[in-house]
Amino acid sequence: MKIAVLSRNPRLYSTRRLVEAGQQRGHDMVVIDTLRAYMNIASHKPQIHYRGQALEGFDAVIPRIGASVTFYGCAVLRQFEMMGVYPLNESVAISRSRDKLRALQLLSRKGIGLPVTGFAHSPDDIPDLIQMVGGAPLVIKVLEGTQGMGVVLAETAKAAESVIEAFFGLKQDIMVQEYIQEAGGADIRCFVVGDKVIAAMKRQAKAGEFRSNLHRGGSASLIKITPEERMTAVRAAKVMGLNVAGVDILRSNHGPLVMEVNSSPGLEGIETTTGKDVAGMIIQYLEKNAEPGQTRTKGRG
Ligand code: ADP
Repeated sequence: MKIAVLSRNPRLYSTRRLVEAGQQRGHDMVVIDTLRAYMNIASHKPQIHYRGQALEGFDAVIPRIGASVTFYGCAVLRQFEMMGVYPLNESVAISRSRDKLRALQLLSRKGIGLPVTGFAHSPDDIPDLIQMVGGAPLVIKVLEGTQGMGVVLAETAKAAESVIEAFFGLKQDIMVQEYIQEAGGADIRCFVVGDKVIAAMKRQAKAGEFRSNLHRGGSASLIKITPEERMTAVRAAKVMGLNVAGVDILRSNHGPLVMEVNSSPGLEGIETTTGKDVAGMIIQYLEKNAEPGQTRTKGRG
C-alpha cells in the first residue's frame, strides 16, 4: 500500500516508528508536512498539492495532527477522505475528540463513567458551579490546554473561586471537575486499536504533583487493567468514532472514569514501557481495513 503520514516533523518518535513499521511490512510510506499540503477545494476533482505536485495513488493516510494545528490538519485530512483515501482516524472523529467539552458530553450521553464536570460562562455563577461539582478540592482545566498545562488543583473553595475568576478575566474557557483523590496522582493510558486495548501503562505523577503527564515529570510503568477498564476504553474510542485512540482513565472508588480520549496518541511512552510493537499493530489495522472509498463520512459533516 501507499500510505501517507500527516505529520509536521519526520524526526518525531511516533512518525519515525510508523514509517519504519510500514516499510518493514513492505509499504510505501510518505511523510507529508500537514501545513505544507494545500488544496483547491472548489475543483470538481478533489486534489491535494504538495511541493508543487498533486498527491496521487494513496491507499491510506495516518493523521498525526498536533493540537495546535487541529483546524488546518482536519481540513487536509477531509480532503484526503473526499479523494477516497482511507484515514486511520476520520477528520470528524478527530474534531469531536479535540473539543474537550463536546467529547465529555458525547461520552456522558452514552453512559461512560466521567468525573463530575461543570462548565459556566458568567462569574456570577462560580459559587454554584463549585457546589455543583461537589465543592473543593477540585480541578480546574483550561479547555485548550495540553500536556497538563492549564490544569490546576484548587484545595479550597476560596482558591477555586479566585482561580476561576482569573481565568474568566483572561477570557479563557475552563471546566471544573471533581478531584479524584483516590487515583493517587496516577492515571492509566489505554491504547486502543480497532476494538481492542492493545497496550496499557500506568502514569504516576512525581512526588508533590497530581498531574501524571510524562511531560511534567511523571513516570510510566506496566499495568494490568481490569475487564471493566478495558471495556470502558474501547467504548470511549467507539463513541468518539476513533479507530486508534489513547484513552486516559482514572481509577476511582466507583470504577473507571474517562478523563480524555486522544486521537493522536504518542507511541514513545507506550512502546518503551510495554515493549510492544504498537506502530506495527497500527499498520496491520490499515492492512485489514483500508479499502478505497471506505471512509464512513467521506468528508461529510
Ligand atoms: P492534559 O490533556 O493537558 O494532559 P488532563 O485533563 O489529562 O490534561 O490532566 C492532566 C493530569 O492531571 C492527568 O493526567 C491526571 O493525572 C490529572 N488529573 C486531571 N483531572 C483530574 C481529576 N479530575 N482528578 C484527579 N486527577 C486529575
